[in-house]
Amino acid sequence: MLRKLMKIGILTIVAAIALSACGNREKSNSSKEKDDRIHVVATFSILYDILKEVGGERVDVHSMVPIGTDPHEYEPLPEDIKKATDADALFYNGLNLEGGKAGWFFKLVDTVHKDENAVFELMEGVEPKYITTNEGRDEAINPHAFLDPLVGVKMVENARDALIKIDPDGKETYEQNAKALLDELHEIDELYKTKIGEIPEEHRILVTSERAYQYMADRYGLLEGYIWDIDTEEIGTPHQIKNLVNFIKEHDVPALFVETNVDKRPMETVSKETKVKIAAELYSDELGKSGSEGDTYPKFLRYNIEKIYEGLTE
Ligand SMILES: [Zn+2]
Repeated sequence: MLRKLMKIGILTIVAAIALSACGNREKSNSSKEKDDRIHVVATFSILYDILKEVGGERVDVHSMVPIGTDPHEYEPLPEDIKKATDADALFYNGLNLEGGKAGWFFKLVDTVHKDENAVFELMEGVEPKYITTNEGRDEAINPHAFLDPLVGVKMVENARDALIKIDPDGKETYEQNAKALLDELHEIDELYKTKIGEIPEEHRILVTSERAYQYMADRYGLLEGYIWDIDTEEIGTPHQIKNLVNFIKEHDVPALFVETNVDKRPMETVSKETKVKIAAELYSDELGKSGSEGDTYPKFLRYNIEKIYEGLTE
């Protein structure tokens, strides 16, 4: 009996040593990999860029939806799930971009058992705009508020406040970094006002494939024309194309635009039927690839207004 107890005792000690060795190894490994930075995960490229700017050297950011992939619908990869499990906080756009409470992002939050205090919506406090039906009934929230530079201001403030909450020691850094980005966004807001102000009033019409520019168009006084409401619904049906062709016949539209991340063919059909040219590609749901003209959030906003201005004043 005693022998048996001793044996169990030894086994327990061995097991405990093995466990603690394991624990140590994990700890040293993770501290090597993870260093002492804060680790956060963002749903897509625009949030990634804002968090990277505001977080600076204190924060490591992982972006889930790669450029070239639709952020409206996404299947997180094993790497995303691992990063999200280990992360100090998760950041999402909100306003239905990631499919709302039943969408892919909240499924991930459930899977990795993240506490709601560690989940931040960068659109918090932004007044939603709705995609309306033909009868004028509000239907779904339009998620694309980030195309409006002043909504960007709100997103940066939310990112700053969230980072301070999870890492109070970095308060000064986050405030300084945020201030630089906020100043730039206010400058970009002025640029939008000036440039759109220089477009003849009857030509202040923005025609795109998806109705992604609603917030920006409302803010700066552009009339919107579009083929489809949102990428997740039917896109480019003959009926939708006919509606836009009629809209173009009724208005003095100088140019059409097409987004970098959509099928260009429906807009090419519209262009053929109306003889109005496609002036340029615009960014909508994602930043440009690294090294391209729109590879940061401020560059993405600047690129769009330049192309819109050129297209509508030519
Ligand atoms: Zn979209």
